[in-house]
Amino acid sequence: MKKTVRDVDLKGKKVIVRCDFNVPMQDGKISDDTRITAALPTIQYLIETGAAVILMSHMGRPKGKANMEFTMAPVAERLKEYLKQDVKFVSSPVVVDDSVRAAAAELKPGEVMLLENVRFRKEETDNDPAFAKELASLAEVFVQDAFGTAHRAHASTAGIAAYLPCVSGFLIEKEVKFLGSAVEDPKRPFVAIMGGAKVGDKIPVIENLITKVDTLIIGGGMSYTFAKAQGLEIGKSILDADNVGLAGELLKKAEAAGVRMLLPVDVICADDFKNDAKKAAVDVDKIPADMMGMDIGPKTIELYKEALADAKTIVWNGPMGVFEMPNFAVGTRAVAEALAASDAITIIGGGDSAAAVEQFGLGDKMTHISTGGGASLEFLEGKELPGIAVIEDK
Ligand code: ADP
Ligand code: MG
Repeated sequence: MKKTVRDVDLKGKKVIVRCDFNVPMQDGKISDDTRITAALPTIQYLIETGAAVILMSHMGRPKGKANMEFTMAPVAERLKEYLKQDVKFVSSPVVVDDSVRAAAAELKPGEVMLLENVRFRKEETDNDPAFAKELASLAEVFVQDAFGTAHRAHASTAGIAAYLPCVSGFLIEKEVKFLGSAVEDPKRPFVAIMGGAKVGDKIPVIENLITKVDTLIIGGGMSYTFAKAQGLEIGKSILDADNVGLAGELLKKAEAAGVRMLLPVDVICADDFKNDAKKAAVDVDKIPADMMGMDIGPKTIELYKEALADAKTIVWNGPMGVFEMPNFAVGTRAVAEALAASDAITIIGGGDSAAAVEQFGLGDKMTHISTGGGASLEFLEGKELPGIAVIEDK
């Protein structure tokens, strides 16, 4: 178990918090502030506890230079609105300078300040110890709450912990609880659903989960690589040619482990990669040479719903089809609805799967939607994330 903000005395302390404020921007405005609202519980707790709160994050890819296109100023404004109190934004092209040190020194319990984009310094992604020390010098305790970047060993996510005691915020606590504990010690039956475009990216996840799940369901673009491995013709469907061999090995591994592995029995194929393309539902061994699989078919939907019916833990990563096109979102929606109706612990990892669930308006029906795309995948691979490894154990 990792220590959290509840396990240490933070009253009157200067606390530096690594948040994930890497919000999407459009024309200088925040287009989605989910990551900001997700960070609020930890920040509010620290304020109420009487800590002086110094927040830091990266945004976008300023490539190690002070580029005001990526300033944290809009985040400071949004935080003020949500926290209903002042947030001192001390913008420095080098993130930490004398004016920042002075502002941090003067910060009183219950007050909040925000640093400039930590990626204005190239030392951030280099995990440079001197920069980590500069950040650490502003505070007495480090709170790690940026799950989205916890798989990166950077100065503000990992290096800083060499100089300060480190505990987790509530966001990381929740991610560790669901992605970690639920996968390591799941209520059974435990079913994992894997989909999305590229098998290559997900193979380590499938490999890790195969030894843990009772049933593994494969859908989406990656299923055609498995179909190919079974010797089926897949027409113009997306294929990860380099990984056909590995897909075949995974099929064998599942069989050897006694894991039930379900692949689509029918698919919706189309004559073009377009929403209004001509489409047809065909059995998986009858995909026409000039068409491509775009979604799972109706028989497959029934089969997957049945497999999910008695599950007690469900982990889902990767859509079942090209859900961005409404005509090929049916399978992904059906799976999302099955999860929403289930009384199992339901965990969604992966950016596009999370977006799909939100798009269907089913977000609040899930037990946990991970906020970290890449980070949640590495977690499901069973890797120890550098930004989580540095948090002290209880
Ligand atoms: P996540 O972000 O949830 O981990 P991925 O990034 O692996 O998911 O995959 C999502 C993408 O996979 C989506 O853009 C979706 O359109 C695409 N996809 C799903 N099924 C297919 C398919 N049959 N053919 C082509 N692309 C697909
Ligand atoms: Mg994705």
